[in-house]
Order: sequence, then structure tokens, then C-alpha cells
Amino acid sequence: MQKEKITIFDTTLRDGEQAPGAALSLREKITISLSLERLGVDVIEAGFPVASKVDFDAVYQVGSLVKESAVSALARAKKGDIEAAANALSKAKRPRLHIFLATSDLHLTHKLKISREEAKDMAFQAVKYARNFAEEIQFSFEDACRSDHHFLREMTETVIEAGATIINAPDTVGFLLPEETAAMIKAVVEAANQKAIVSAHAHNDMGLAVANSLAAIEAGAKQIECTINGIGERAGNAALEEIAVILATRLDERYATKIKTRFLSIVSDEVARCCAMPKAPNKAIVGENVFRHGSGVHQDGMMKEAKTYEIFTPDFVGAKRSKIVLTRHSGSAAAIAAVKEMGFILENDEPSRFFAAFKQRAEQCKIVSNEALKRLAQDLGLRSQPFA
Ligand code: MN
Repeated sequence: MQKEKITIFDTTLRDGEQAPGAALSLREKITISLSLERLGVDVIEAGFPVASKVDFDAVYQVGSLVKESAVSALARAKKGDIEAAANALSKAKRPRLHIFLATSDLHLTHKLKISREEAKDMAFQAVKYARNFAEEIQFSFEDACRSDHHFLREMTETVIEAGATIINAPDTVGFLLPEETAAMIKAVVEAANQKAIVSAHAHNDMGLAVANSLAAIEAGAKQIECTINGIGERAGNAALEEIAVILATRLDERYATKIKTRFLSIVSDEVARCCAMPKAPNKAIVGENVFRHGSGVHQDGMMKEAKTYEIFTPDFVGAKRSKIVLTRHSGSAAAIAAVKEMGFILENDEPSRFFAAFKQRAEQCKIVSNEALKRLAQDLGLRSQPFA
């Protein structure tokens, strides 16, 4: 069966850095963009040029350095914004102008104070103007998640007629359920009628960003917008590493991306450091605990065959080797293996004496360190192997 290619649009440098406190310097944006290119993302959204000088400069620099990925710049449906984005993209090998305009009655009435007809006209004019500067024009319907599907269809036809090549229907506020995302994407895919690529952009306010992105793919979206570590406004965006690994391990017979998963851990660490947003230890795919095992039953299984408790290998995502963590949940197999690995010899009743002492120690702390393990062995008078 022919695999369907899913375009990965990374917006770590735009939506991601809009996370409170995550703002990146120009140098950091450049560093991360080169890592994203090596990771294999198809599109790097580098900033919102009219919004700040750092954003303008970042889009310009990223555009002149990145060779493989397309570089996208964000603009409102305004001449000045489009010109700023176009200027910032002037050195890009594959420039993408990304225009957005709200489509929900809530935003049109209260925020923009315009009618649906006026919104349609603004969108048409903006895309027409943007075509003077770039071939790839992406149009995003802000708050598409709370927009009337009939109006989304009309807008889709309008912006395609004006020259848009990619239509993005975002769940701007992380409101939709997976089946609602699918219905929205289907409406846009039908209206686009193969004349433009349809894209999804999910937010994680209710923890559904990745599930919604998968639902969008099943409904016909060919581009997914996401960020490293899922950083972004509020509860963040869909996590790139989660989508990439799900597609590569569970849906690989049907879909393909260009992501080289072995670089995920290094890019994830870099983004966490640059954005001063440490990852939770239990973060899916890239958290510190993903390859650490604490319970006795699991540790015993891991020592016999890693597949018993790991569904992908550390190498697959470029993480450090699986680690047995010694805690009060650990069993004798793991504790004894660890002390033997330190060079101690256990004979006769020593394994059971050692394990009893280990259990007692482990009750008093969260993790038994290597130092503590060595002291236990010495206190019991265990012999250590002579150095060769
Ligand atoms: Mn967003």
C-alpha cells in the first residue's frame, strides 16, 4: 500500500515561544532552527516578523541559513504584516507566507468587529497581495474550532480562489474532541477539493492535542502543526515527538514523515534548555523516566528481554540506555545484579543477607544511589573482585 506523506510543520519558534517565559533570543532561534532542519521537519515557522525586531531578524537569518526545510513567517491579513513577512523571507530558499484571520462569529463580532462578508473580502485581498511575494501561501482560520462549518467551506473556496496553497484549520483554544476535529477537517478537505493541502493545528488545553492531530490525519489532513515538547500558549501545542513516534511505530504502514526520530531527544533537550521550560520526568517520548524502571517485576522482565516493558528502544529516539532505578519497589534480581556489576562477589547466604539489608535501606529513601549500594556491600563485608 502506498504510504501517505504527512508534512510536519514545526512552530516551536513561533507558537512555542509564545509560552509565557519561553521567549528565545535570535541566537537561540538560529540554533534550534538548524536542529529542526537536521531532525527533518518540512516547514519551520520562524516567527511573526511584524511583531518584533527579534522575530523579523530571526525569520531573515533562519531563511538565509536553512536549506532543506521551507521557512514560514506569520502575518495578519494586513498589507503591512504581509510586507514585513515578505521582506523577512527575502533570503529564504523556500519561503512560505502564512496569513491568519479569525473565522468564528465570536472573534469577528467582539475582536475584529467585522461581518462574515467583510472577513471573506479581507482574506481574499490579503492572499492576492501575498501572491506577489511567494508561491506557498498558507491561510489559517483562527478559532476555526468554534466557527460555523458552512462558513469555513466558503472561506476555503475564497482563499483558494485568491491563490492560497495550504489551508490550516486550527483548534486555537484546545476546545475540540477528536471526532469534532475530524468533522471540521472533513468539511475543509471537501471544500478544498484537492486544490490545496489541508492542515491541522491543535492545542492541549484538555490534553487532546495529539489525539486531535491523529483524528485530523485520519480525516484527510496532510500537514500537522506541532512544537517540540508540546510547548506553546497556555497548555501548549501538539507535541512533535509524540506525533512522529506514533506515526513511525503504530501507523507506519499507512503514513510516513521525514522525521529522523533518533534526533528527537537532543532537540527536545535543547528546546527545554533554551526556553527554560524543563520537561516533566514522565513526559511522553522524551521525559527522563521513559526508559527507567522502578518496580521489581518490571526490572526482572527488563533484564531478561527489554521488549517486555519498552515499546521502542532508547536508540530509536536518541535517548540514553535504559536504566534500572533501585527503589523499595525493586526486587532481588535487580539489586543483586547492580551490586555484582560494581565488582562484589556474593556467595552462600550473602545474596539473601544483602537483599534484606537493601530492602531496609530502600524503605528509608526514594532512590538507592550507587554510593549507598556500595556502602551496604562493604558493611556486610562482601568481597570485591580483585582488579585484573
Ligand atoms: Mn496556536
